Amino acid sequence: MSNALLADVSQPAAEQPTEAEWAAAVSAITGLPADGRILLICHVNPDGDALGSMLGFGLGLRRLGVRQLQATFPGRPEVPEPLQAMPGSDLLVPATAADPDPDLVICFDVAAVSRLGDLADRLDRADTAIVLDHHASNTRFGGIHLVDPDAAATSVVVEKLLVRLGVPLDLGIAECLYIALATDTGSFRFDMTTPAVHEMAARLLATGIRPGEISRRIFDTRPFGAVRLYGDVLGRTQLEPLAAGGQGLVWTYATLDDLARHGQRPYTLEPLIDSVRCTAEADVSCVLKQVAEGEWAVSMRSKGATDVSRVAVALGGGGHRLAAGFTGYGAAPEVVDAIRAELARDVTASGPLRGDQQDQQ
Ligand code: 5GP
Ligand code: MN
Repeated sequence: MSNALLADVSQPAAEQPTEAEWAAAVSAITGLPADGRILLICHVNPDGDALGSMLGFGLGLRRLGVRQLQATFPGRPEVPEPLQAMPGSDLLVPATAADPDPDLVICFDVAAVSRLGDLADRLDRADTAIVLDHHASNTRFGGIHLVDPDAAATSVVVEKLLVRLGVPLDLGIAECLYIALATDTGSFRFDMTTPAVHEMAARLLATGIRPGEISRRIFDTRPFGAVRLYGDVLGRTQLEPLAAGGQGLVWTYATLDDLARHGQRPYTLEPLIDSVRCTAEADVSCVLKQVAEGEWAVSMRSKGATDVSRVAVALGGGGHRLAAGFTGYGAAPEVVDAIRAELARDVTASGPLRGDQQDQQ
């Protein structure tokens, strides 16, 4: 996720897309010939906002009559089980089958080219690339940028573009955008849950989508094996009250063997950080998820006292002030040593630089 846990509401209002940028995006889409080919791309390891924004917009393009349309993401073509029933999923193709030479590329929730993996070459091959995003750290790697760092989710930007294209919300589009919005606001719990967020949710719900059924399917359903896996992994959680300048660190790790033992896929571990970060005695929480021998995808969260993006950037990653990550190498204790050492430096959230401004991911 990339989100909104996490936005710092004390910061001055960020720059919004200009009227010229909105107009350029609309004419890039409406100006395409009837047989124009559009490729939609979201970030590697897509979450609810990435997929929901992309597929919701794809359904909107379909309503506009676009026929040559694909949606894809780099890396393993695996959609997390809870997101597999999302409307518009029939638009998805594996990256290996993605149009090598589209006329128009549209990126969703992608903060930097590195998140496009092997699909980055499509940016050069397409006539036009539109970037829809809400990361303050967005590196503006496309041609037309609709980047709103104040938006709680990329789907907020998507809805605005659909309005400008004259595409009304229908059940399918609304479900996609709702999943995206609920994902990035932590089900409307984080600080970015503004009146405008609830107004958007109201518009989506007015189409008749069922929030209870959607939330149960997306957020509250897990195979029994995953429940047991969480038991193992949470059972080895460590609390270090003196770390992070006395603010406290809580951490755990999950290995490939843990996944195999319980017959689970790696994406099962994504919500794990939420079960760790609730620890009252620690400001900083970390989960190390083994990717390969000696390689870990690290998720970090702060409750507010620590700028974890500084730690992540120092260790080769990025993210937001209160939610960040990086790839760690070595044995798990070595990765935690590196985190502990970075946390021992001054990474208080009141430092002069906003963490998410440094993210060059
Ligand atoms: P999560 O822990 O949910 O995977 O990621 C939290 C935030 O950290 C996201 O906003 C994401 O952009 C960022 N992030 C996670 N992993 C990495 C990484 O390996 N590199 C960079 N640059 N950012 C990351
Ligand atoms: Mn997002």
